[in-house]
Amino acid sequence: MGDASQGPMTGPEAENRCRAIMAELSEIGLCLPGSLVEQKRTCSTPGCHCHDDEAHLHGPYRLWTRKVNGKTQTRVLTEEQFERYRGWIDNSHRLHELVAELEQLSAVAMAEEANWSEPEAPAPDRRRNRQAHVATKQVGKRRAKAGK
Ligand SMILES: [Zn+2]
Repeated sequence: MGDASQGPMTGPEAENRCRAIMAELSEIGLCLPGSLVEQKRTCSTPGCHCHDDEAHLHGPYRLWTRKVNGKTQTRVLTEEQFERYRGWIDNSHRLHELVAELEQLSAVAMAEEANWSEPEAPAPDRRRNRQAHVATKQVGKRRAKAGK
């Protein structure tokens, strides 16, 4: 990112990058969609202390959330599962980055072949990731705490 001054990668440089991307893709391993979040929550029991004191919130709960047919689905994980599958989530993010970059390089290669003066290459699309991120933040009704 941010090297727009150099222009798009072309020719042998682009071919090398494509090969590197495909090599990395071939070794990426399992890719889990969605996000992992840790959060503390209030409960639905009337009069429970969690409603008036943050120190009495329940949890932390370790959650795996993802969109299925437009709906957020959540599973509660154990601490062990949470640590184990974190790497799979990271792989998925990397997968999407690499695919976006490969698409970008391909669009530039096409523009080169077609002799278009301006490459018809859109910037890698980060919107999808950002939306997924926002969606997971809405899962916690309050005090949603992501990360460590
Ligand atoms: Zn409670």
